[in-house]
Amino acid sequence: MNPENIPSIADHPNFREASCRQVDAETADAYWHPSRYNSAAAKMARRICQGCVILEDCRDYALKTLPEHGIWGGLDPHEIERRAGYRGQGA
Ligand code: SF4
Repeated sequence: MNPENIPSIADHPNFREASCRQVDAETADAYWHPSRYNSAAAKMARRICQGCVILEDCRDYALKTLPEHGIWGGLDPHEIERRAGYRGQGA
């Protein structure tokens, strides 16, 4: 499916309840868009994602759209790409 045809995760009916929406913009940027994906900030984002009400949908969205930056559904772009590849192989 063309990523342009996939509705944004921001349009999810429960997006306002998402865990990353419960912190201020500066913190969200530091955690979900860290300079390094093995940093303490990135680990915080991954941990917080685990309790998110739309975790599965966010991860699914990332697997379809393959974002190049940021933590999505607790995964960084490399992890997303790997999982998307496995899924594409029917695994
Ligand atoms: S799973 Fe993580 S990145 Fe996705 S909406 Fe929830 S808190 Fe945000």
